[in-house]
Amino acid sequence: MSSHISSLPEKIDYLIVGAGFAGIVLAERLASQCGKRCLIVDRRNHIGGNSHDGKNSDGVLAHTYGPHYFRTNSDRIIDYLSQFTEWHPVEYQILSWAEGRHWQFPINLNTFEQLLGRPSTTEEMEATLATWRVDIPVPKNSEDVIVSQVGWKLYELFFKNYTRKQWRRDPKDLDPSVCGRIPVRTNRDNRYLSEKFQALPKEGYTEMFKRMVDHPLIHVSLLTDYRDLPPSLSYKHMIYTGMIDEFYDFRFGPLPYRSLRFEPETFDVEFWQPALQVNYPNDHEFTRIVEVKHATGQEHPKTTIVREYPEDFGPGKEPYYPIPAPDAKAVYSQYAALADKEMDVSFVGRLATYRYYNMDQVIGMALAEFESLKSRYTI
Ligand code: FAD
Ligand code: UDP
Repeated sequence: MSSHISSLPEKIDYLIVGAGFAGIVLAERLASQCGKRCLIVDRRNHIGGNSHDGKNSDGVLAHTYGPHYFRTNSDRIIDYLSQFTEWHPVEYQILSWAEGRHWQFPINLNTFEQLLGRPSTTEEMEATLATWRVDIPVPKNSEDVIVSQVGWKLYELFFKNYTRKQWRRDPKDLDPSVCGRIPVRTNRDNRYLSEKFQALPKEGYTEMFKRMVDHPLIHVSLLTDYRDLPPSLSYKHMIYTGMIDEFYDFRFGPLPYRSLRFEPETFDVEFWQPALQVNYPNDHEFTRIVEVKHATGQEHPKTTIVREYPEDFGPGKEPYYPIPAPDAKAVYSQYAALADKEMDVSFVGRLATYRYYNMDQVIGMALAEFESLKSRYTI
């Protein structure tokens, strides 16, 4: 891996902008399956994009940009990544802190029992929710999607303020998919996520990424913005995984994004909080405290927690989240119409397609783009 533009290869087939999941999966496929020369550039000083991890100065394995819980229902994606990593199976379990106590979250029968202060049953929970639910046949926003499942009380306890804090928007002004990501269950399943495969790369994401780019036809140049590449560098096709509005010099105006500030703290104890993640819907300026050591399985006398503060996106900030909302989608569709016409550029990944996608969805998108490029250029 190099971080010097001067050491770039002379001849490449693909210029890949961004060394996150989207860029790395495509480089790996194009090099190993089609013998294509790929140059990956990233303006950051590491590979892995937002999925990067590594040991901090105390030796604790931490996720650099917030918790990254790998999960998928796709055997194809599991088989693909399993070429580059073994897995550490983990069921991600989290808690929510509200009204001065920890609650089991996402909402399930255990949460309902905490609310009642006595044992209950699935039947009783279902009957009660039926009386709390607001009748909204087709939820149109993130408020609708929650109140139509659990009613106002639980919406206000767990969702309303967390969402306002995270997005600086009312849940009414966000697509149903945002809060609709969170499952509501009437059994005792405490897992945060519902996908059948839930695990972390055994030695971390970065070790897996290193193996994926370890190919003689893949060259990685860090601390390199693609706009600073010499004009003499020629390539057949570009794969772009950065912000689509930036690619087009913001000609239809900037797309909205949300950013975050991560505040880590390390303690001289094995574990600091009772769960991997504790959400704070109504208290504090941060949304959650994550202690990823609960999930990585690392044995270490110290532990690191990270407080996550939502921030507006602007100069010097990372665009962590596209904002799934009708107004943002309207701007994006103007950029997407330009992107559709590009013959020599593929737009892949969370920022280039302005989608609130998880890692497995981005991998799926990259694998699909590989198939499409293969049929265009090699058959
Ligand atoms: P990125 O990882 O963003 O990579 C794009 C790269 O392009 C960046 O490294 C950037 O520096 C580079 N780049 C941009 N412009 C340029 C340029 N002009 N020149 C050079 N380089 C450029 N997913 C899950 O599945 N589970 C989770 O638990 C989870 N938690 C998350 C928590 C947070 C806080 C965030 C922000 C995301 C989370 N995700 C999670 C989503 C996951 O991070 C993304 O799905 C994934 O990282 C997207 O990969 P990507 O390659 O599309 O983009
Ligand atoms: N959410 C909430 N309360 C919670 C957890 C989530 O209101 O305790 C809402 C909030 O709008 C959040 C969204 O659900 O942004 C998705 O949550 P998730 O934990 O999946 O977010 P991510 O890990 O992507 O930041």
